Amino acid sequence: MTVSTLARTLFVNGEFEPAASGDTLPVIDPATGSTIGAISAGGAHDVDRAVRGATAAFEGEWGRLGAADRGRLLARFSATIAQHAERLAQIESLDTGKPISQARADLAATVRYFEYYAGGADKLHGDTIPYLPGFAVQVLRVPVGVTGHIIPWNYPTQMFARSLAPSLAVGNATVIKPSEDASQSIVELAKLASEAGFPAGAINVVTGLGETAGDALARHPGVDVLGFTGSPEVGTLVQAAAAQHHARCILELGGKSAQIVFADADLDAAVPAIVRAIVQNGGQTCSAGSRVLIEASAFERVTERLAAAFALLRVGLPSTDPDVGPLINGAQFARVRGYVDRAKRDAVAVLARSARPDDLPAGGFYVEPMLFGPVHERHELACEEVFGPVLSALGFADERDAIRLANATQYGLVAGVWTENGSRQTRVSRALRVGQVFINCYGAGGGIELPFGGFRKSGHGRGKGFAAMHEFSTLQTITQKFA
Ligand code: NAD
Repeated sequence: MTVSTLARTLFVNGEFEPAASGDTLPVIDPATGSTIGAISAGGAHDVDRAVRGATAAFEGEWGRLGAADRGRLLARFSATIAQHAERLAQIESLDTGKPISQARADLAATVRYFEYYAGGADKLHGDTIPYLPGFAVQVLRVPVGVTGHIIPWNYPTQMFARSLAPSLAVGNATVIKPSEDASQSIVELAKLASEAGFPAGAINVVTGLGETAGDALARHPGVDVLGFTGSPEVGTLVQAAAAQHHARCILELGGKSAQIVFADADLDAAVPAIVRAIVQNGGQTCSAGSRVLIEASAFERVTERLAAAFALLRVGLPSTDPDVGPLINGAQFARVRGYVDRAKRDAVAVLARSARPDDLPAGGFYVEPMLFGPVHERHELACEEVFGPVLSALGFADERDAIRLANATQYGLVAGVWTENGSRQTRVSRALRVGQVFINCYGAGGGIELPFGGFRKSGHGRGKGFAAMHEFSTLQTITQKFA
C-alpha cells in the first residue's frame, strides 16, 4: 500500500492542488516511526479559497438540488465507498496504526453513515403554526449554508462521515480539515465523492496543521456552523475563534466514561465488553470506558476476571491484526507513558499488564494495555482522559456512591451500567450526567441512529441520528397575511 507522496492533497472546488505556499508535512507510519509520504500544509489562503468554493456551490448547482436528489447522491457515495472499502481500510490502518479488522469496521460504519443520511435527506420537514385569523405561518427547516468541520486522527473516515453526511443531507456545502496525523483516507474519500457525482465545491478538503489551517477555518466569516471533534483544549480555542463571527459550534470532545459493575452483574457478558471498550483503537477513543467502578463486595472477583482477560491481549503490527496496535504518534506515546510512570511513582497497584513482544519495530509507538487499581478517586488516572489502553478500577459502597463517582469527573460522554436489577438499571441511568448510557452492553456497534454527544467538558450539540441534521440546519418562519 502506498500513500500520497506528491502532496497535492487539497481538494478545493473539485480539483486536487498543492498548498499555495508549496509547504508539505510528513506522513509518519505509527508502526515503525518512519516517514512514508507527505501531505500539503494548507494555510489561510487555501482555506479562504475552499470556503469561497463552498459558498459558490451552495448558491449554485448543489444548493438548487432537490432533497430526493441529494439523498440519491449520498446513497451513490455510500455504494462507491463500499466498493473501495478494503483499499480504504488498508490505507487507514497504515496511516493510523489501527489493527486492520478495526479499520474494516470503521469503513463499514462510514458506508452506513452515508446510507443512513441518504434516507434522511427528504424526511426532514418543517411545521405550520396556528396563528391569528387571516395569517398563514410556515416554519421551514433550512440549510445554514457553509459548514466547517475539524476532525481528529482516531477514526478519520468515520469522523468524515459522521460530520459531513448529515450536513450534506440537509443541503449545506462543506469544508473539512482532517488531522495532520491522518489525512490519507480523507483525500481518498474526496476522490470518491467526485466519482459519485458531487458537484465541485460541495465537499472541500484542506489538509494541514491545526494552528494554521484549522484556526483559519474556525475564524473564517464564511463558515455558518462549525463542527469540531477533538480535545477540550482545542475546542475552547475553536469556539472562541468562531465566536468572532457568531458561528454556532458543535463540540464533540473527550470523555472519562465509567463502566459501573454491580455485584449481581453477568460477568461473562461484562468482562469482554469492558476490555474491548478500553483497548479498541489502543484506547484512543473518545467514548473509551476508561474507568471501571465495581461494587466493593465484588471488587476482587471482577478485577481477577479482568486481569485474566488482559493477559490474553496481543500487541502487534497493525497488519497482523492484533488486539492493540501502536498509538498514533510520539506525542501521544509520551503522554500515555507519562500517566503510567506517574501512577507507578504514586504506588498505584498494577493489577494486570499485557505482554509486549520483543520484536516490535523500535521506532513504533507501542504501549501494552494495563489495569490499575484500586485508584483513588482524585488521582489523575481516575479523572483525566489518558487516551491510551489504560483502565482504572475504583470500588464503590452502594448505588448512591456509584452514581456520585460516575458523575465525579468534568466529563460526561458515555456510561455503561451492568446489573440484572431492572429498577436499578433505570434509576442509575437517569441519574448519570452523560450523553449516552448503555445497559448490559457498551458501544453497541457504532449506533449511527443514536444521538451522541456530551455534557460539560465532553462538549455540546449532538452528532448521529436525526439530531445531527437538526444541528446542521436552522428554522425559518414565514408569516403570510391573506384576505
Ligand atoms: P486535537 O484537539 O489536538 O485536534 C483535533 C483537530 O483540531 C485536528 O484536526 C487538529 O489539527 C485541529 N486543531 C489543533 N489545533 C487547532 C487550533 N488551534 N485551531 C483549530 N484547529 C486545531 O485532538 P486530537 O489529538 O486529534 O484527538 C484526540 C482528542 O479528540 C481526544 O481528546 C478525544 O477524546 C477527542 N475526540 C472526541 C470525540 C467525540 O466524539 N467526543 C471523537 C474523537 C476524538
